[in-house]
Amino acid sequence: CGIIGVLGKHEVSPWLVESLKRLEYRGYDSAGIATVNEGKLDRRRAVGKLWNLSDLLVHEPLPGKSGIGHTRWATHGAATEGNAHPHRSGPVAVVHNGIIENFRELRAELAEAGITPETQTDTETVALLTRMFMDRGMDAREAAVATLGKLEGAFALLWLFDGEDDLLIAARKGSPLAIGHGDGEMFVGSDAIALAPMTDRITYLEEGDYAFVTRAGAEIFDAAGRRANRDESRIDLGQ
Ligand code: GLU
Repeated sequence: CGIIGVLGKHEVSPWLVESLKRLEYRGYDSAGIATVNEGKLDRRRAVGKLWNLSDLLVHEPLPGKSGIGHTRWATHGAATEGNAHPHRSGPVAVVHNGIIENFRELRAELAEAGITPETQTDTETVALLTRMFMDRGMDAREAAVATLGKLEGAFALLWLFDGEDDLLIAARKGSPLAIGHGDGEMFVGSDAIALAPMTDRITYLEEGDYAFVTRAGAEIFDAAGRRANRDESRIDLGQ
């Protein structure tokens, strides 16, 4: 129900959890984060209050300067740790707000390719498809765009990849997503409130947009895959 992504200069776990707290008002039943640390992707997830995730992170810290986070309001699959985001398949981690309407068809397609989901969620199909495309030789960017081409529904998506500590891929279709600009740091969030502690320089993705985000900035494309210019604005949230 809430999404955050950070390509930072410092350890991102505390930032991710702080941003998720700021998205609590949307409601949620579980939460999780993933980071890339020295090229290695890992994740932590917990059912219930964000406190449970914070507590888990005390006992099992998640180092890394690049990461994504999610608060989940379950639509497909019970509110369990296994169904909590980020979803992972091989080198791919994904957080998602909304619903992938055609996930049953996509699961059937994946089954034909010999790929079996491990969860009941619509979201996992996104991670599985992206991994399938990477296994077929596409790089992370190509695989995310190919995956987007197969998805129907209303969603905001954020991808993080093993071996890529300077890349987030974001996509917006029916669910808002904001890119935040820092000084050598970049952020993505469901809204400007989530990003407020980190930056007030915001670019909103428009309907159908996707973006390749690195610490150097964001390359934004429209639904037709054309490079798009979206204005950056200063958001005054009185923080
Ligand atoms: N449909 C997804 C799920 O049930 C995402 C729900 C959300 O927006 O949090 O896992």
